[in-house]
Amino acid sequence: MHQAAVQQLLDIAPRGAVVAAVRESLDAARTRRAGPPDDWEEDIRDRLARRTAAELRPVLNATGVILHTNLGRAPLADAAIRAVLAVAGGYSNLEFDLSSGSRGSRTDHCRSLLRLVTGAEDGLVVNNAAGALLMVLNALADGREVLISRGELIEIGGSFRIPDIIQRSGARLREVGTTNRTHLQDYERALDGGVAAILTVHRSNFEQRGFVASPEPEKLAELATRAGIPYLYDIGSGLIADLSRWGLISEPRVADALAAGAGLVLFSGDKLLGGPQAGCVIGDRALVARCRENPIARAVRADKLTLAALAATLSLYQDDDAAVRSIPVLTMLTLSAADLERRAVRLASLCPGSVDASILEGESAVGGGAFPEGVLPTSLVALNAGPLGPDGLSLRLRHGQPAIVTRVAGNRVLLDPRTLPEESFTAVANAIEQALSS
Ligand SMILES: *Cc1c(COP(=O)(O)O)cnc(C)c1O
Repeated sequence: MHQAAVQQLLDIAPRGAVVAAVRESLDAARTRRAGPPDDWEEDIRDRLARRTAAELRPVLNATGVILHTNLGRAPLADAAIRAVLAVAGGYSNLEFDLSSGSRGSRTDHCRSLLRLVTGAEDGLVVNNAAGALLMVLNALADGREVLISRGELIEIGGSFRIPDIIQRSGARLREVGTTNRTHLQDYERALDGGVAAILTVHRSNFEQRGFVASPEPEKLAELATRAGIPYLYDIGSGLIADLSRWGLISEPRVADALAAGAGLVLFSGDKLLGGPQAGCVIGDRALVARCRENPIARAVRADKLTLAALAATLSLYQDDDAAVRSIPVLTMLTLSAADLERRAVRLASLCPGSVDASILEGESAVGGGAFPEGVLPTSLVALNAGPLGPDGLSLRLRHGQPAIVTRVAGNRVLLDPRTLPEESFTAVANAIEQALSS
């Protein structure tokens, strides 16, 4: 512990972790046939790094996949980060009414903002959209049937499957139509006293083309109203802003789903909405009230950090242009070709002279189950991996400081400046230099 190199480790890790790494190194030296390591300090440093590697830490996303689910989906807007900081270190009025001085409700936060920016009668926020769907179905259809098209019995990824969620909610799944074509009459014919709701789930991560049909949400809402049951629409990505100016039109918007007549609209907070992980349920006041009173609402409730970040994000949507400017997901989605090229040129120019970096035309992806077929042209920085090989270089970059996740194509490692903050370029260039020289 007194050796200088080990002492230095105390600057980056708690004493207990360093002691544990030293003990582990000693134990290994005693039991290993090869005996002690060639370099104790390096062995201890490696063991310490391995102990902390599994923990959550920041990485730079150079893949160009904007809503990369494995990398934590949406980065937050500055306003949302400030809002989290403001409540994180102290107390807040989470469930306290400051006017009356008595108990308040956690569900009041975000409620008026959801109403304001979506135009819905009421709204409720829970931990995530999968939880929201579970809660909504249990609240409105427990023990009864839910009609859904066979073309929408989808898997979202990470073992979230619509048929399983419906079953676990206590509702009974009643499939209508076929994989590729479902008509209004299919729903109509299935309607009887046992049906509690009609559900539409946005396919999210794929599109169907060819011999396909599905009724307009308006028609399903009308049908549900005639039958006296709610029409539920899980739109997935939570797109609020109008991105048609940028040609991004294939995702259902929150406002469209409400205008179509959905009784409840469900969506995620951390996809195209660009906020924290959350599940939003908006729509008819009486239906939202039934959800709020359901015990699952308590089981999947949102925490204060989420509510703070979501409120600050929603607040930005009071002005669409401000939203596009300040919500990173929307900014990244709408970067111009000229901007992307300028960024790529700058990043390439910062790369060490020893690496062969060139600019390539390529494509970014939206990710996160949104705009699955969307093509986002971009400019890539392509690094010739040299003797390390592309997998070797990308591995080193993942283990670097900062950790950088890249794409690989042929013998090259590709960096997409769309998903890298400009402030990170110098650090990226330094990490590349490190990776090539270590
Ligand atoms: C992504 C998605 C969900 C799940 O959302 P989470 O917030 O990740 O739980 C549910 N439904 C649809 C249609 C989705 O696209």
